[in-house]
Amino acid sequence: MDEMPQRIDPSMDRAAAALLLGCTPDQVGYCARCRGLTRRYGPDAQLVCRACRAAEGAEEPSG
Ligand SMILES: [Zn+2]
Repeated sequence: MDEMPQRIDPSMDRAAAALLLGCTPDQVGYCARCRGLTRRYGPDAQLVCRACRAAEGAEEPSG
């Protein structure tokens, strides 16, 4: 079954968010849209979190 990506509240501990995101705490940053936590830095960086991208239903390149 499909799992909807969930927004990670910015009050969450960075280390815990990193575990959810599958990255290191250094890579955790704020989503450009909802200000939730996302993998904002590093090789697989995303400006917008998975929850926002899923809500939009688009795979637009960041720019
Ligand atoms: Zn977001």
